[in-house]
Amino acid sequence: MGKFRDLCNVYASLSAMRPTEADSFGHEAVVDGWKFDPALFKDRIAKGLNEFPPKYRNGFADKLVTWAAGGPEAMKCEYERMVADGEDELFVSRLVASWVDTLAMAVEGWGCTKSQPALKRLAATTSNLHNLFEGEVRKVRGASETVSQPPLVVLAPDGAWGPYTINSDKLAQITGIKLAVVSVPERYGDCPLLWTPLAHEVYGHDVPHGFLHGDRHIRETTTIGTQPTGSEYWEGLIGDLKKGLMSSASTVVPGNSLSEAWETIWRDIWLEEVAADVYGIVSMGPYFLIGMAGWLSAARATNPYTPHHEAGTMGNQILSRNGRPAGDHPPDILRLHAMMAAIEALPEGDDATRQKWRDLMNIVREDIAGTVSTIDVFDVEEQQVLLQYPAEQLIADARAIGTYIATADLPILGDKKIIQLKPWAKENDAIAAAFAAHATAHLTGDTLTYDHDLCSPRHCLVGATKALFDSPERSDTINEHLMMALRDQFNKTFDFHP
Ligand SMILES: [Zn+2]
Repeated sequence: MGKFRDLCNVYASLSAMRPTEADSFGHEAVVDGWKFDPALFKDRIAKGLNEFPPKYRNGFADKLVTWAAGGPEAMKCEYERMVADGEDELFVSRLVASWVDTLAMAVEGWGCTKSQPALKRLAATTSNLHNLFEGEVRKVRGASETVSQPPLVVLAPDGAWGPYTINSDKLAQITGIKLAVVSVPERYGDCPLLWTPLAHEVYGHDVPHGFLHGDRHIRETTTIGTQPTGSEYWEGLIGDLKKGLMSSASTVVPGNSLSEAWETIWRDIWLEEVAADVYGIVSMGPYFLIGMAGWLSAARATNPYTPHHEAGTMGNQILSRNGRPAGDHPPDILRLHAMMAAIEALPEGDDATRQKWRDLMNIVREDIAGTVSTIDVFDVEEQQVLLQYPAEQLIADARAIGTYIATADLPILGDKKIIQLKPWAKENDAIAAAFAAHATAHLTGDTLTYDHDLCSPRHCLVGATKALFDSPERSDTINEHLMMALRDQFNKTFDFHP
């Protein structure tokens, strides 16, 4: 009892913003609509070019410079569309500014000697998650399938944004470049213990967009003033999930139906985010729940813009801004239940392993028991709760959706289910556990070795999360070992110079 809370508190102390950090929400950032200075942008790109991974140079760095010089019309359209849709103008300005900053930093960051080790660790991790999914998909869909490149990685000087990704559809829409960029706040760079959300970003968002959408992606929402039609996801993996929900929304899981009032919210607003969490479970197993839910709890506890919330409890708020839904994330408590349903759907046949996973979930359940009875709509501008709903039905919905996403037959995967791709099984547990033992060994150095060939970055992250969950007081040692392991993984596997 209390283990999950302890973990959340460690995450909260590791992830809290430092007083010296830039925060575009807290300060009046210098923003001017969608505009930015192309010459300054070009200078920033030039600062990182020498060290920038050569295989991304033509496809990204060079194209970015051309894009910026040519007048970024598409970004202007996107800005105007959001404002016409009623989004707050200052908020949209900051969002667009963060895109521009992220794109520049994706190249500029490599020019900073201090950042390079962290960027390499990040690149090793994100390419592992990307290649894992893509490799499996190619087995199903044939080796000739277009291959996307692993995302670029960014350490964001602005502490308020992230971890987040600009998926390749979004980047293609703004700049014409089909590539994903993943960003974490700079302070996360030397703390890979905080990197569990990367599985959500890369395996959850980037691969479904970058690879499975391909050219079949249809978009009818780019015209200024046009209401989003929802056609954005009609093709590809999220499209398959959406179509499945449309045809059988009230019976996604026999005996466990979605409540009618929330059906469209789940399908049209929250679906991709929940799917990204479920895919996190698919790629990293049950400890993804521990790392992701723990991080969500810590992030909410340290967020200065929402009401005080204790680390170790789960958020129950649907955020709105000026009466409009803000973002497309369901409340954390619902994400947690969807992830639990996904763990139960993993196809592991070994009873002892399944029992271990259930025990793990029970620790979380016991720690958060009785803390959430309602789901609240909270307006971040008005700083008050506008509406409240009983949590019970929405939690049942979350479980049904989690099971559905994990077990739906997906036409784009040849009618396979996502959990048939690369299910996390007891073998993976064992690899990660060996790393956990290594990371908590009494002396620093390799007093307890682990299998460097079997233990990919995702296994390292899972092992480190397990180690932290079991020994939160050793966070420094565990983090140090994780940094070394990811460095080794980069040196061993990362294909920087084709
Ligand atoms: Zn997301």
